[in-house]
Amino acid sequence: MRVLVVEDEVKMAGLLKRGLEEEGYAVDTAGNGTEALWLAGENPYDALVLDVNLPDLDGFEVCRRLREVGRWSPVLMLTARDAVEDRVAGLDAGADDYLTKPFSFAELLARVRALVRRGAAERPSVLRVGDLTVDPASRRVARGEAPIELTAKEFALLEYLVRHPGEVLSRTRLIEHVWDFAYEGDSNVVDVYVRYLREKVDRPFGRESIETVRGAGYRLRETAQDAPSDPS
Ligand code: CA
Repeated sequence: MRVLVVEDEVKMAGLLKRGLEEEGYAVDTAGNGTEALWLAGENPYDALVLDVNLPDLDGFEVCRRLREVGRWSPVLMLTARDAVEDRVAGLDAGADDYLTKPFSFAELLARVRALVRRGAAERPSVLRVGDLTVDPASRRVARGEAPIELTAKEFALLEYLVRHPGEVLSRTRLIEHVWDFAYEGDSNVVDVYVRYLREKVDRPFGRESIETVRGAGYRLRETAQDAPSDPS
C-alpha cells in the first residue's frame, strides 16, 4: 500500500513518513501542491494525507484538481483549525475524510487504514450525464455550455436523477430521497416537478432525457439515447 504525504513542514512530514512506514506503508512525500499533483498523477496511491496549508496551492485546490483529472485516491485532509468551513470546503473539493491538527498519530493511522480499505471509488464532484452537468457544491447546472436556473427542489430532484442514470426510479423512492420521510402529500408532486425539470433541462434543448416508465416511475436516459426522438 502506497501513501503520499503532502506537507511543507519538514518535521511533520518526516514524522508522518516514519510513522506510516512503521505500519508497513510505502510513503512518498511532497512539500508543495505542485509536486503533489505531479506525483499523484504519476502514481496510483492508495491514499493521500494532504495538508490544507501549503506554500503554493492549498490542499483544497490540490484535491479539486486531482478529481478533475480523474484521480480518485482516497484523501485524508489535515486542517489547522476545527472550522466548519474548512471541513465543508474539503469535502466539496472531493476529500474523503479530515483530521484537525494537532491529532493523535493513532487516530491518523486508523483513518488512513479505513481509507485504504475503502479504496478509490469514482466520486466525481461534478456529475455528468451526456452533456448535462450538475455541480452539487456550487449548485450549478448546465446543458453543454448553457447554464440552467433551477429552484432548490428542482435541483434536488435532478441531482438524484443524475446520480442514478439509466435506473428506473419509482415515485416513492424519489419522494423518500428528494422530499423527506415526513412528507405526506401525494406522489403527484413528483410528476409536477418532473414536468418543471423537463421544461428547463430538456425542452429548450430539444431533448427527452427524462423518460416516463409507465407504471414504474422515471428514468434519466444515459448518453446514447439522449437525443430527441424522431418526430416522423
Ligand atoms: Ca503545512
